[in-house]
Amino acid sequence: MSRTPVDEILIGGCFRRGTGTPIVTVDPADGRPITTVHAASPADVDEAARAAAEAVATPAWRDLLPHRRARVLHRIGDLIEEHAAELSALQTADTGKTSTETRALALSAAGTFRYTAAALETAEDSITPSRGPYVTMSVHEPIGVVGAINPWNSPIASDAQKVAPALAGGNAVLLKPAEWTPLVSLAFGRLVHQVLAEEELPTALLSVLPGKGRVVGDAIVTHPLVKRIGFTGGTTTGRAIARTAADKLVPASLELGGKSPTIVREDADVEQALAGVMFGLFSSSGQSCIAGSRLFVHRSLYDSFVGELVERVRKLRVGPGTDPDTQVAPLVHHRHRDAVAEYVDLARSEGGRVLCGGAIPDGERYAAGAYYLPTVIDGLPNTARTCQEEIFGPVLVALPYDDEDDLVRQANDSVYGLACGIWTRDAHAAWRLARRIDAGTVWINTYKQFSISTPFGAMKDSGLGTEKGRDLIRSYQRQKSLYWGTDTTPLPWAG
Ligand code: NAD
Repeated sequence: MSRTPVDEILIGGCFRRGTGTPIVTVDPADGRPITTVHAASPADVDEAARAAAEAVATPAWRDLLPHRRARVLHRIGDLIEEHAAELSALQTADTGKTSTETRALALSAAGTFRYTAAALETAEDSITPSRGPYVTMSVHEPIGVVGAINPWNSPIASDAQKVAPALAGGNAVLLKPAEWTPLVSLAFGRLVHQVLAEEELPTALLSVLPGKGRVVGDAIVTHPLVKRIGFTGGTTTGRAIARTAADKLVPASLELGGKSPTIVREDADVEQALAGVMFGLFSSSGQSCIAGSRLFVHRSLYDSFVGELVERVRKLRVGPGTDPDTQVAPLVHHRHRDAVAEYVDLARSEGGRVLCGGAIPDGERYAAGAYYLPTVIDGLPNTARTCQEEIFGPVLVALPYDDEDDLVRQANDSVYGLACGIWTRDAHAAWRLARRIDAGTVWINTYKQFSISTPFGAMKDSGLGTEKGRDLIRSYQRQKSLYWGTDTTPLPWAG
């Protein structure tokens, strides 16, 4: 599957070429084109949205009981797992990520479908305390057609996190992968399509519509039949989508950017902290919304900790994602690599010291790829642009702090509030800091661990709404109240 030309996309249950501007996908490890994807146009989006609205209303889907829908989700999970090796190879070619990571992402997508199936089978509507001669109930119903828009950094995992709960909730989905990385989402679409066809359900329940954000993404968000938006991506895009959603009065969940603090207290287990700080930023080559990209170290430990960190970062193995020894793979695209390099130049011009990295690696192996060396910078105040803006690459900024109040002030001095890491042996300090830092997720003596069973949300400009967790399906449903009269006496007003 990894080098198969994908010249068809999934529009309203049919595989055909899109009528939008074609996209040439490129393997960032060597710069070679993989294939041309015939992307969607606004007319394709309209066709997919109409077919999706019909699919939602089809009795075979509309009346399918939750435990039967759960069976469909289980089947999708199984199929993803069966195809994990091909999905991983495809994603590594398209995104540059290591095979270890892309395999884990494929398996996590399978796990998301299974967890969602279990949540669906056990989700309960409620009978509320009656306050009159009626039975009162609160029930949940599908919203209709959902737009799911994703970034390029972890396509299949973020696809599953939206598509699984949306289908579980009884909806249909228009999925838009990022322009640079459509391939794995298209392969995922084929698997879902196969299951829907086998189960004799409407195949238009999922369309996969690659293309430019401002064209295809915008056509999805503004389409009158799209009644709920699930978005993951940058804060600027998220804000624009929120405005459109507000105009349409439809709910939107927004998982956005981050510049997360990772904190090493003076009482930390240094070995554990070194490994965690490196993994928290340099895994995925720093292209992770939750990357611990601002390192705060207590001043008493700062020089020795940062010195040792730099020694170890220099030894990280940079290479193609297909090499099992690689720790830091190429960035997703040459244009993104250049944007990361510009941030390091900015750090230099702001007066920062580049302690290691700060360049494209030398050598034949790296010449054609989108590589950038893992980089550590210090000597900048937290107010510097390099410390405030999301770089989304293998660039760590290190800052000392003096005491807890100074730490909390600096860590929270950010527009973002996505994640935080705390390295300490002091349980009381961990508790205090975990509650004082503005972050949707806090890791204590670990970092970048994820579980579908734990809700994931954000504070400040990092987003709105929650994904994952037992209630993940509810955010793709509408709540309805029923009052069911139990008394035959006419209401007193009438008499
Ligand atoms: P992006 O905002 O540029 O694009 C995200 C998606 O939105 C893409 O599919 C894009 O085509 C689409 N899009 C762009 N403009 C649009 C518009 N006007 N209308 C509708 N859709 C539009 O982000 P990116 O560069 O692809 O991804 C990186 C960003 O994603 C980073 O900021 C990162 O932090 C964030 N991210 C957040 C999370 C999270 O869970 N909080 C997870 C992963 C990535």
